[in-house]
Amino acid sequence: IGAVQRGVAAAALARRAGDTRLGNWAIVSLSLMIALVAGTLMMSRRAPKTVPISVLGREQLGQLLFSVSPEAVCIADSRERIVAVNPAFCRVTGYTEAEVLGELLHFNRSGEQDQTFFDTVKADLRRRGRWTGEIWQRRKTGEAYVEKVTRVSVADSTGKPAGYLTVSMDLTANKDAERLITWQAQHDALTKLPNRTLLSERLHRTVVRNRRDQALGAVMTVDLDRFKLVNESVGPVQGDRLLIEAAMRVVMAVSESDTVARLGADEFAVLVPEIDDYTDAERVARDILERIREPFMLDGREVFVTASVGVALFPQDSDDPAGVIQMSSSAAARAKDIGGNATVFYQADMNAKAERRLELESALRRALKSEQLLLYYQPIIDVRSGKVIAAEALMRWRHPEWGMVSPGEFIPVAEESGLIVDMGRWLIQEVGRQLQALAAVGHADVRLSLNLSGRQLKRDQDLGDVLALVAEARADHLTIEITESILMDDAARTQSFMNAIRDLGARIALDDFGTGFSSLSYLRQFRFDTLKVDRSFIHEIERNNTDLSLVAAIVSMGRILGAEVVIEGVETDAQLRCLQSVGCDLIQGFLYSKPLPAEEFLAFVGAFSARSVSS
Ligand code: C2E
Ligand code: CA
Ligand code: CA
Repeated sequence: IGAVQRGVAAAALARRAGDTRLGNWAIVSLSLMIALVAGTLMMSRRAPKTVPISVLGREQLGQLLFSVSPEAVCIADSRERIVAVNPAFCRVTGYTEAEVLGELLHFNRSGEQDQTFFDTVKADLRRRGRWTGEIWQRRKTGEAYVEKVTRVSVADSTGKPAGYLTVSMDLTANKDAERLITWQAQHDALTKLPNRTLLSERLHRTVVRNRRDQALGAVMTVDLDRFKLVNESVGPVQGDRLLIEAAMRVVMAVSESDTVARLGADEFAVLVPEIDDYTDAERVARDILERIREPFMLDGREVFVTASVGVALFPQDSDDPAGVIQMSSSAAARAKDIGGNATVFYQADMNAKAERRLELESALRRALKSEQLLLYYQPIIDVRSGKVIAAEALMRWRHPEWGMVSPGEFIPVAEESGLIVDMGRWLIQEVGRQLQALAAVGHADVRLSLNLSGRQLKRDQDLGDVLALVAEARADHLTIEITESILMDDAARTQSFMNAIRDLGARIALDDFGTGFSSLSYLRQFRFDTLKVDRSFIHEIERNNTDLSLVAAIVSMGRILGAEVVIEGVETDAQLRCLQSVGCDLIQGFLYSKPLPAEEFLAFVGAFSARSVSS
């Protein structure tokens, strides 16, 4: 360094700056830089004793470094007035040298950092002669940027402060990358909405504020109904498009101060920081439901989707952010349970319900092993011949303490937990035994039907079990009832299952006809032996002409398709007369009989046929 001290380059700089004192420290600083470059070279080249660059004249070297350095260099005097800048400085700031000479250091500060900050920089320089850190500046264009700054204060040969040398590197590119990373950590890549992390953060702040201001806020979980099915039928690319569009619709339904986040595949959440009362939340939820219900155009096809919305209020329901989100999501699950396309507000007893579900599940596991499950049979009557032509097997659960648990309560639990697969195997065997029993008492012609869950077809193993068990029963007197949801799940698989069932001589009935999508294309695609018309059509049939016409239409459709039509849930003579007037003869309902225990059912069949024979 000592050798470079009298470097002509620095002297030239000093001359240009018109300040002789500058000469000495500029030399020191430039030599520092040279040493740095030399050091790097030495490290990379296994430490040669002589540095090749030393063959350059020192003045040339200094000038070269100053002019080619990619880092901005700025030299200021002891009063912080700029006396020299290099081309990199001009490139980064956008100012020409002439424009900045004589200006104060940081004439282009951005305002991001206050005077106190610059005071500490100065204090550091006084104390240690050196400062390193980040400074926000402003380019001539007005754009703010951040640079990593190293500044040394330099003294002249007598030790008096002479000025400052600043080397700085524009960090904006790096900062953008950093910001991008932060952004990605807080947003969903597909919809660009905030994710759970960012939602929780905002919710946390809002909960604290609302508690202080005694204000009410809401979190809504918006869960798309049957999205999995739609996704499978339109494919993942269109499925993604649907999600993005759905996200947009939710955003459109809320105001700007609300946060819409994506929590899971088809689950969104809305944070409404402030509402007057729950009706505000209700209104927003209704708007969301309406917008989602509008058809989605995918690949030129109209696709219909609905949503389930769950609402939790804070701090009323909970003032724990995670708790609030959890509550809104269990309310949404409840909305889905009741059929979707609905809004449900969180209620304290929902957790109790969830607990009850768990309790049911473990009790049901025991029930299967300890023979608490039994089958009831509900006769299906041919009104014209007056005969019991068939019966539907319906599961019952007699719990040692709770008594009879209705299938409406335990079948959903069995489906969700997968227990239905084991229960279903038992069911087919039991129905097989009952078919034997019927034949043994002279009613070999009476058929039995049983309800099949979609879960029993999902895995090859389970599907194979079903077929094997059907084969062991008197298959030609067995009917398998399935619902449309099975058809929608996996049409090809269901088709081959239905073919296999038919090969065994058994029949297939479409259950709850008219409640689902009941698209005509299903009837064209799949052949059914029986259509079971849902009870909801019968309810008001004697007063409701539309219902009656619909049932009449279903009956003639059945004829065309070669399927018999069974009407479920007939309770009154008036209903029966209406049905007969449109040609419905196959009836299942309380009018003739409730579901009966096996023994009583056998007795019923005997008595009923005796009655019709005698009459
Ligand atoms: P589902 O297959 O539609 O069965 C008909 C339901 O309607 C039965 O209810 C039956 O008792 C009821 N019902 C019949 N006639 C009348 C009537 O005149 N009035 C009224 N109000 N109701 C009538 P249940 O036995 O409670 O079964 C409910 C549902 O549980 C069944 O609906 C079926 O989806 C499911 N389920 C029952 N047993 C099984 C089973 O063994 N396996 C499977 N996977 N599901 C089953
Ligand atoms: Ca059924
Ligand atoms: Ca039914």
